[in-house]
Amino acid sequence: MQDVSAANLRATVEKLASYNTRNTLSATMPEAAEWLRSEFAKLPRMKTELMTYVAPKGRRVPEDMEVVQCVATLPGKSDRILVMGGHMDSLNLQVDAKTGRAPGANDDASGVAATLECARLLSQKEHEQTIVFVGFTGEEQGLLGSRALAEKAKAEGWKIDGVLSNDTVGSSSNLAGQKDEKHVRVFSEEGEDHNSRELARFLEWEVRQGGGDFRLKLVLRRDRFGRGGDHTPFVQNGFNAVRFIEVHEEYTRQHTPDDLPEHMDWNYLANVAKCNLIGLTSLANAGPSPSNVRIKMDQGHNTTVTWKSNGAKVHTVYWRDTRSAVWEGHVDVKDAEEATIPLVNKDDHFFAVGAEGGVPTEAR
Ligand SMILES: [Zn+2]
Repeated sequence: MQDVSAANLRATVEKLASYNTRNTLSATMPEAAEWLRSEFAKLPRMKTELMTYVAPKGRRVPEDMEVVQCVATLPGKSDRILVMGGHMDSLNLQVDAKTGRAPGANDDASGVAATLECARLLSQKEHEQTIVFVGFTGEEQGLLGSRALAEKAKAEGWKIDGVLSNDTVGSSSNLAGQKDEKHVRVFSEEGEDHNSRELARFLEWEVRQGGGDFRLKLVLRRDRFGRGGDHTPFVQNGFNAVRFIEVHEEYTRQHTPDDLPEHMDWNYLANVAKCNLIGLTSLANAGPSPSNVRIKMDQGHNTTVTWKSNGAKVHTVYWRDTRSAVWEGHVDVKDAEEATIPLVNKDDHFFAVGAEGGVPTEAR
């Protein structure tokens, strides 16, 4: 597979930032959405649409308004679906929403650029799963576009394995002098009816296995304190969803006229896109998740894990110390529904089993 191109990422961010504003209420936002749609449409097999939804009167929306967002679908062979997106709308709180300048380069042309670049690379090959690439809008008015798509997905019974939202992923440093070029944060929450934390843990593992020195830093909470993102409406509708965001945000460049391409680190953005690409490539070709993942009740120094295969040939068993947020060991098992892990006890460790390349299920 070709590599992520920092030049492509830069060109997309610069193009999106060149619109006077991409505020969801503005006249230029639909123009930007149409430009983005036409870029996705250049890719092989990609089906594109400007999805319409109603932004209801409320916070930052003076009256009910019909708006669009960009949805591009790369069809797969199975009925399972992955979603990657960033929000293409921008915000400048210092000016008039409809007409004031709001470049929104990092927040969030960066996430949209990463999405378009991953789409370009993933469309070069056929995958098992369908992948839906989204330029959300209405994010700044309260996650309106992501909620519209998540509700549609739930109503239509989409079988979504994972949603990767990228929001503000293009800068490695802030004006306080902090810098981290080697990590991107991934926020995830736990819940009864979704497996978002396991999706995050899987992505961290997969990127680490890739061998590069750029890694995911898992943050074990829904989002930053008091703030939100487009992954959350998906979680609330029962889907696995996580948020990528740079480690050191610069708050004076968020929702201001200073959110400009010249403050961005293209190499860093390329690394974040690469992490998404590694995760999506793996997930898009994974077999179905196993069911009945259990730890065998017996006393001893070894741990036996059992599961029921739902069609995958190879399964991966993972384990970690209960104090560790990330997987520490793994073994691949072919044509079997049981594995014994020697000298890893079930008291001090958590275990999980996944179809090879898929989101694992915790063993209980
Ligand atoms: Zn944002």
